[in-house]
Amino acid sequence: MRINEHYLTLEESYLFSEIAHRVARYTEAHPEADVIRMGIGDVTLPLCPAVVNALEAAGAEQGKKETFHGYGPEQGYDFLRKAVLEYYRERGISLELADIFIGDGAKSDLGNILDLFHEDNTVLIPDPVYPVYRDTNQMAGRRIQYLNATRENGFLPMPDWNQPADLIYLCSPNNPTGAVYTRDQLEEWVRYANQQGAVLLFDAAYEAFVQDPALPRSIFEIDGAKACAMEFCSLSKTAGFTGMRCGYTVIPGELQRGGVPLQALWLRRQTTKFNGVSYPVQRAAAAVFTPEGMAGCRKNLEVYRQNALLISQTLTDMGLWHVGGVNSPYLWMECPNGMSSWEFFDHLLQGPHIVGTPGSGFGKNGEGFFRLTAFGSPESTREAMARLRESC
Ligand code: PLP
Repeated sequence: MRINEHYLTLEESYLFSEIAHRVARYTEAHPEADVIRMGIGDVTLPLCPAVVNALEAAGAEQGKKETFHGYGPEQGYDFLRKAVLEYYRERGISLELADIFIGDGAKSDLGNILDLFHEDNTVLIPDPVYPVYRDTNQMAGRRIQYLNATRENGFLPMPDWNQPADLIYLCSPNNPTGAVYTRDQLEEWVRYANQQGAVLLFDAAYEAFVQDPALPRSIFEIDGAKACAMEFCSLSKTAGFTGMRCGYTVIPGELQRGGVPLQALWLRRQTTKFNGVSYPVQRAAAAVFTPEGMAGCRKNLEVYRQNALLISQTLTDMGLWHVGGVNSPYLWMECPNGMSSWEFFDHLLQGPHIVGTPGSGFGKNGEGFFRLTAFGSPESTREAMARLRESC
């Protein structure tokens, strides 16, 4: 009996525990310090009324013999898949019902999708990165090549046409950097993926934050993407579903490799290993796509957007280089005066009592950078920015 030894190659994820440790140590020594947390990647506003009503109604249905639902379809109920289909159609993207798979969030699907791919595949992953892409591939022992995201390329790496690739991860708007790919840039990635015969794994978890109509919110806005890409979406940030758990993955029927439609493989995988998202959560998710649900979600998103704009404006006024914030809840700033990420962390904690996330925790190219998030309250964001202006 052998364990999967690839797990032993994973680096201990100490980023958030180290942050918690440093904050605890500081507040113990300075109990009067009013620390503002701007490192959180979780939403803080509650579900909107349309969603809560749907959740309650579906809960009540489960309590009656006539309306009780047992196991549902593994790929999701049609009422929700049709709502997702319509959400794409409104943006001019035509998909088939079979292309849509409901899941319990983007993280699970991003990890589980790797069941479909051979371990020998070469994987391109941006650095800095949402750590799930890296760790899930490392668990399977795949070769990882990093795409350098740097200040020079605006943290939006482009393909090196001489570099072979089988799987490519792109996340736009990006976590941790908040950078968003333009249409031209995504067109180049799609051309490259098609030329390589690679599969592009496009993480659109933050698409709802894109305001600029010129910026793509889906990879399927790009010609040729259906032949090479799948898209991972989440209601976590769009609708405050981090504690509800619901997302959707789009795998177009056109996406085939070795003569096999990947959609068919994913359906087989899901029907074997997954029993679907709970009925009440899917009803609540469907309510997100109704006019009332959309309006409620937009209201919450607007609060985060205003926070992000305020942070961005403050950094601009202070002459601090950054990306993100305009079409994204994340801001990625260069640490001032050549400070390292952790030096700046301590500086912000001890000075203005602001907690953010050191960029070095997301990859080697994150050193010297720092992530701030817009998921706090407007009051605490305003207070933090006032303190920041005074301190630097
Ligand atoms: N993708 C990115 C880039 C994320 O930042 C997150 C969550 O923070 C996820 C996916 C996971 O989202 P979910 O809550 O749907 O699993």
